[in-house]
Amino acid sequence: MEAARQAIANGDHENIEIYADRLKGELLQPVINGTGIVIHTNLGRSPLKDMQGRDKRFRFSNLEFDLKNGRRGSRDKRVGPLIAGLVGADAAIVVNNGAAAVFLALSALAKGKAVLISRGELVEIGGGFRIPDVCEASGARLVEVGTTNKTRLRDYENAKLQHGAEIVLKVHASNYKMVGFTEQVSIGDLRSLGTDLICDIGSGLLDENAPWLGRERPKWLGSEPGARQALLQGADLITFSGDKLMGGPQAGIIAGKRDLVETCSRHPLYRAMRPGSLVLSALQETVAAYLDNDAQNLPLWKMARAAPEELLERAKALGVGEVVSLKSAIGGGSLPGIELDSYGIALPGDQTTKLRSMNPPIIARMEGANTVIDLRTVDPGDDPHIIDAVGSL
Ligand SMILES: *Cc1c(COP(=O)(O)O)cnc(C)c1O
Repeated sequence: MEAARQAIANGDHENIEIYADRLKGELLQPVINGTGIVIHTNLGRSPLKDMQGRDKRFRFSNLEFDLKNGRRGSRDKRVGPLIAGLVGADAAIVVNNGAAAVFLALSALAKGKAVLISRGELVEIGGGFRIPDVCEASGARLVEVGTTNKTRLRDYENAKLQHGAEIVLKVHASNYKMVGFTEQVSIGDLRSLGTDLICDIGSGLLDENAPWLGRERPKWLGSEPGARQALLQGADLITFSGDKLMGGPQAGIIAGKRDLVETCSRHPLYRAMRPGSLVLSALQETVAAYLDNDAQNLPLWKMARAAPEELLERAKALGVGEVVSLKSAIGGGSLPGIELDSYGIALPGDQTTKLRSMNPPIIARMEGANTVIDLRTVDPGDDPHIIDAVGSL
């Protein structure tokens, strides 16, 4: 579509294929290094054995090399623009994880400035990543707004006047739930404040309607916000993880208005936080799955949408242990409280230590006095290994 747009804009629609090839040439890909320079910075420095898994040859890549003009290129021109297109942003950059994305965005855009955050969103993500601490470390001045359970637009308006704030940070409470007498202000309503609006949406569900899961949005997605919708509703910048509900490798994405994304990419911290060709190529493949309408086959979505009947059949076919109905969780600090019906096998007593000593190790969990293995998260190709391992107990 992008190729078609460019060709039409140039009045050159007969040559769409040339435009498509050019866009393809901008993607990260293996190249043959005939320069004689072994550690070639433009070609991804040290050669990697398994670049994109196509073959087992040593490969360099065009990480920072422009295949069209033969000059130094930029790694920012690879998967970033693809992600931007996917979520409807002007621009996007990739860093090492979601925490880095939030830290970089605040460091680049909010240092020395007052940042308004609802008291209901001063969250700890885990591993010591606490929004107030990140805010302080970035040099931003945190201004708490509202109360733990209720924050209204009026609270933001008052705080903005009082502190001359130019930035609002909205953080998605990915890993816990507030119920009862609660109120938070939507992205759409925050827009009326006229400040820059940064939204840490966390889990990285790219589209809240998850069209790749079929026409009907599964109930278990709850009210998880989508990257596309956060931008449509008026977020100027969003941050999210690559390895939660996006289903890709560990990475952090910053996407949104071009000037804000560029301010982030010019900040010295970006150089310290950018991933290399392994992560970028895995992320590029993940993005390609969404663009090719093949996201339902990403491992995350395949496992999440596996039908209970299918899991029951597999559990029966194992022929070891006792077939039991189970509840799976999405996990990863996303969709708290959501359970998926599942099936697996139960073994009497605690077998978890022995199962962990198998090759490859099998990680099971205890339910009461039984050890259970939930098949939702087991690749069907590993079922024979489960049979052997359980048989050997
Ligand atoms: C998970 C999460 C983060 C941190 O992302 P990592 O990829 O784990 O570093 C930050 N903010 C929110 C809201 C999250 O859910």
